[in-house]
Amino acid sequence: MTQVDRSRLESLIRALPKTDLHVHLDGSLRLATLIEMARRQGVALPSFTEAGLRETVFKERYRNLPEYLEGFAYTCAVLQDAESLERTAFELAEDCIGEGTVYLEVRFAPQLHVGPKLPLAETVRAVARGLRRAEAARNVHPDVVSGRVPRFKAGVIVCALRFFNEHFGAEYARILDVHRHAPREELFGLASLEVARAAAQLREEGEPVVGFDLAGQEKGYPASQHRKAYQAAHEGFLGKTVHAGEDYGAESILQAIGDCHADRIGHGVWLFDTTKIGPGVRDKQAYVNRLSEYVADRRITIEVCLTSNQQTVPELAGDLSKHPFGEMRRRRLSTTFCTDNRLVSDTTCTKEILRAADAFDLAPHEIRDLLIYGFKRSFYPGTYLEKRDYVRSIIDYADRTLEAAGFGPDPKRRRG
Ligand SMILES: [Zn+2]
Repeated sequence: MTQVDRSRLESLIRALPKTDLHVHLDGSLRLATLIEMARRQGVALPSFTEAGLRETVFKERYRNLPEYLEGFAYTCAVLQDAESLERTAFELAEDCIGEGTVYLEVRFAPQLHVGPKLPLAETVRAVARGLRRAEAARNVHPDVVSGRVPRFKAGVIVCALRFFNEHFGAEYARILDVHRHAPREELFGLASLEVARAAAQLREEGEPVVGFDLAGQEKGYPASQHRKAYQAAHEGFLGKTVHAGEDYGAESILQAIGDCHADRIGHGVWLFDTTKIGPGVRDKQAYVNRLSEYVADRRITIEVCLTSNQQTVPELAGDLSKHPFGEMRRRRLSTTFCTDNRLVSDTTCTKEILRAADAFDLAPHEIRDLLIYGFKRSFYPGTYLEKRDYVRSIIDYADRTLEAAGFGPDPKRRRG
């Protein structure tokens, strides 16, 4: 690709309507806001300059997953009141709007932010307030009102953690303290059930809570411990996504589907890797094939986070074309590009898609289709008919954008 072609492609990607269905609030602060809030709240940071923090904490490359996760201690430390949560959600939405990401599902683990004056439900309401404020500000723009550009829409996904200890925060310490004699695994399930019930209830009350997620270390902490939580989310009609196949293999993805009714999978990096399957499975290749067929046929969508995966999975560090997105594409799986953590991974949706286009040689029409898939597989906070209208407006806008950039209808497109 020549320099001119590449900059033309970048402008096109920026202009096309995008979704981000997998973005963590506490990994996506503005650096300047983190510094400002830390100063005001008396939170110690290794540096109080953006350059200093980029050097010490939020790096371009990380040695491993633990180093990648170090930054969250600082971001969570400043997000312990409703005002900071609301502001961070608002700014994240603004940053997304600025690069044409018009549909957003922000996720966070409320229990990391609960304190004596901040109950679980309030953490969610604060984030929802920030998103609503951004929606209201954006959607009165004359171009949005006239229908020339798409409306901005956002929802909240609440996360539970597969594993925690008393150092994860005051709420987790409290849970462990109250249930001193209970086995830990039981408490992991109990804590996640509380989050799922709160999520379902908040949604009933009209908050834009759209989904439930499970995050944290997979190995040793199976999704089966969170069955009850997912059952509660399921019965509350919430969308279900699970971080799976990120640091463990295909079996973890099957657990996410079997135990948690997953509609979407976060990462799924090891979906095809037979070496990451335990000794209980004899024909590992057949297992991978069957699982992949199931995921494809049920349109279980993989939330692909290329930069984040490259930063935490050493096998992918040098060469993005080794990422299993290539195989997902060949097998026609449903995929959507996501940022995971805009600050920690130093990325945006535009950057993710451009990197994908470079590594996998994606043509503009294929990029368009991938982007629209994100809208279709979203947990849209509204009725199905409203979602259809919204997706229709997105498709029209994407096609107008492609045409204006000199890419007409796809000549290879078959009807039906
Ligand atoms: Zn994630």
